[in-house]
Amino acid sequence: MNSNNSISKAVKILCDGGLVAFPTETVYGLGADAMNSRAAERIFQVKKRPRNHPLIVHVSSIYLAKKIVINWPKQADDFANKFWPGPMTLVFKKNNILPECVTAGYDTVAVRIPSNITAQTLLKEFAHSGSGYVAAPSANIYGSLSNTSYSDVRAAIGKNLTTSDLILEGNGCSYGVESTIIDFSSKRLAILRPGSITRNNIQKSLGLNIQETELNKSTPLVSGSTKRHYCPKTPLYVMVYPELVKRLGELLMKNVSNKKFFYWGFKSFTEISSCLNQEIAPDNAVDYAKQLYLKLNELDRKKYECIFFESPPKNAEWEAINNRLEKASVQL
Ligand code: AMP
Ligand code: MG
Repeated sequence: MNSNNSISKAVKILCDGGLVAFPTETVYGLGADAMNSRAAERIFQVKKRPRNHPLIVHVSSIYLAKKIVINWPKQADDFANKFWPGPMTLVFKKNNILPECVTAGYDTVAVRIPSNITAQTLLKEFAHSGSGYVAAPSANIYGSLSNTSYSDVRAAIGKNLTTSDLILEGNGCSYGVESTIIDFSSKRLAILRPGSITRNNIQKSLGLNIQETELNKSTPLVSGSTKRHYCPKTPLYVMVYPELVKRLGELLMKNVSNKKFFYWGFKSFTEISSCLNQEIAPDNAVDYAKQLYLKLNELDRKKYECIFFESPPKNAEWEAINNRLEKASVQL
């Protein structure tokens, strides 16, 4: 838990145009005052993020969210009341209050109220002493693994920050994958990115069945929607068990130079080899999601030749995880 002292320091940094990386219930965010275009610009520099990828704006209240939006449909109240604070991002047509760079020139804005206690305290204090709007994408280098711990954030972007920036230590990211993004800006309600809150959760809570989303040309060119994303440095292969037995089995048999491999799956890998380390993965989506980026970051540090994950089940509970694994893995 953070002391009041470090939150006050973080708020001062945001007010002064610096960057603050902070834990949320999804992944760590890299935050700047969304009303200060120079500060928001630095997020793109530090992350090496293309300027045409808009940033999610984090706030502490529905009141603040509504102030940057035109056309807040009635149905959005149901989502906000049910899922905020929490891992749900809502996209609306925006008004002209936010600087252009935050929304990458699009006429929409993505907004969220996180539930993580550190994030909430920071946003509430910043609503008192500053603008109250914090633009924050994931605290990582564009396209690479998201981070869910202080030490992984420091290792990933620490060297790109200055002494006027800060990484807040805080309670872990309890969901572990990014937020679910719901688009209210077009005629039809759509999920732009599957995330911590599943279609089933939405169905159960609001009785709404949101269909598979077709991303089209007018959908913002967004990070999570590119084909390759969330990538570890080590090649990652995700396959069903029989295929794994074949490919990894062959690799181990031909492995004259003693390269090291890692397997993470739901049952143990039967081939015994001193070149293979293996661990059993959680068989429920909630625990799996919580561990995913921690595990991939850990495996990257261990410098395996390549890593093999057994494909998770293909149902709604695992949708966000399958989405991240598909983008993070080598496609054969
Ligand atoms: P991240 O890179 O994790 O911060 O996620 C950014 C995601 O938020 C993007 O991939 C978009 O799906 C969504 N997003 C952010 N800003 C906007 C916007 N102005 N309009 C539509 N979607 C947005
Ligand atoms: Mg990201």
